[in-house]
Amino acid sequence: MTSNRYDVIIVGGGPAGLCAAMYAGRGMLSTLLIERGMPGGELLNTELIEDYPGFESILGRELAVKMTDHARKFGASFLTDNVEGVKRLPDGDFEVKTDMGKTFTAPSVIVTAGGTPSKLGVGGEKEYAGKGVSYCAVCDGAFFKGETIAVVGGGDAAVEEAQYLTKYATKVYVIHRRDEFRASAILQQRLFANPKIEVIWNKTVEEVEGGERGVTGLRLKDTVTSQVTTLPVTGVFIFIGFKPNTGVIKEHVKHDESGYVFTDTSMMTSIPGLFAAGDLRHQLTRQITTAVGDATTAAIAVEKYLAEKKETAGVGAS
Ligand SMILES: Cc1cc2nc3c(=O)[nH]c(=O)nc-3n(C[C@H](O)[C@H](O)[C@H](O)COP(=O)(O)OP(=O)(O)OC[C@H]3O[C@@H](n4cnc5c(N)ncnc54)[C@H](O)[C@@H]3O)c2cc1C
Repeated sequence: MTSNRYDVIIVGGGPAGLCAAMYAGRGMLSTLLIERGMPGGELLNTELIEDYPGFESILGRELAVKMTDHARKFGASFLTDNVEGVKRLPDGDFEVKTDMGKTFTAPSVIVTAGGTPSKLGVGGEKEYAGKGVSYCAVCDGAFFKGETIAVVGGGDAAVEEAQYLTKYATKVYVIHRRDEFRASAILQQRLFANPKIEVIWNKTVEEVEGGERGVTGLRLKDTVTSQVTTLPVTGVFIFIGFKPNTGVIKEHVKHDESGYVFTDTSMMTSIPGLFAAGDLRHQLTRQITTAVGDATTAAIAVEKYLAEKKETAGVGAS
C-alpha cells in the first residue's frame, strides 16, 4: 500500500505486535506495524527462552527474527519510527502520528507498546542483564536452581516473586531500602514464614558485581549507617516497578490504578476500534505466550470489527 491509509495500524513490534501483524496480514488486511527500534521488543533483552512452546530453548533475538520474518511473509508493512500519538477522529477512524512527522489513518489500531521495568540505575546492572540480572522471575527463575540469589524491592511484586523463586534457589535474600514492606499483609506473612528467605532491611544496591560467568555479588549500602558490605549472590531479580507504555493513547482509555489498559474479551479497549494486546494490558501475568495470545484475539477481532463496520455502512447507504 502506497497511501497513508491502512485497515489496521499496530503500534509496537514486540511479540504481541509481530503476532498481530502476522494474523492481520494473513487475514488480508492492509497492515502497518510501527516500531521505534529493532522488532522484537523484550525478546531482544532476553538471552535464553525455555518456555515458548515448540522451542525447548531459543535465544530471544533468534525468536525475534523468526517472528519478524513470519509477519513480513504475510504482507505486513514495517516502519521504523516512534509513535507520538494515536487520536480518534470525529468519524471514528484513528490518526497515528510519528516523531518523523508522518501521519497515518486507519479504522482500527492495536496498541502493543509493552512496558518498561524500572531499573536500579547502578553499575553492573546493564552489563550483567541476562547474565544474572533479571526483571522476570517466571522467565528466569529456573536458571538459578540450587543457587543463592537476591530480590530487590518491597512491594507486592518483589515479595510474591521472592516466594516463587524459592522453588529453584536454595536461598533468596530480599533487599529493601526501608524497614518495612509496602506489600500486602498476607504476602508478607507467607514470606516471613519461608525458611529459604532472609530479608535485608535498610539497604540499597550500590553496584552489581560480576565476572566472565555473570553476577558474583552485590555491593550494598546501609541507609541508616552508610556502611558498605558485599553480598555474594549469583543472581539478582529487580522488582521496583513496571510502567506500561500507554502514553501514545491520547484519549482517556479505561485503565487500572497502575495504568494497565482494560480490554474486553476481544481485546477492545473502552474506545471502539482501539485494541490493546500484550504487556500493557491489565492481566494476571506477562509472558511471550500471553502476549501472542492477546495479539491473536485482537487481530481476529479487528477483522470482525471491520467487517461489521462495512456491513453497517452498506446498510446505511442503501
Ligand atoms: C529480561 C526479560 C526476560 C524475559 N524472559 C521471558 C521468558 O523467558 N519467557 C517469557 O515468556 N517471557 C519473558 N519475558 C516477558 C516477555 O518478554 C514479555 O511478556 C513480552 O515481550 C511482551 O510482549 P509485548 O509485545 O507486549 O511487549 P514488548 O516486548 O515490551 O514490546 C513492545 C514494543 O513496543 C515498542 N514501542 C513502545 N512504545 C512505542 C512507540 N511509542 N512507538 C513505536 N514503538 C513503540 C517497543 O520498542 C517494543 O519493541 C521477559 C521479560 C524481560 C524484561
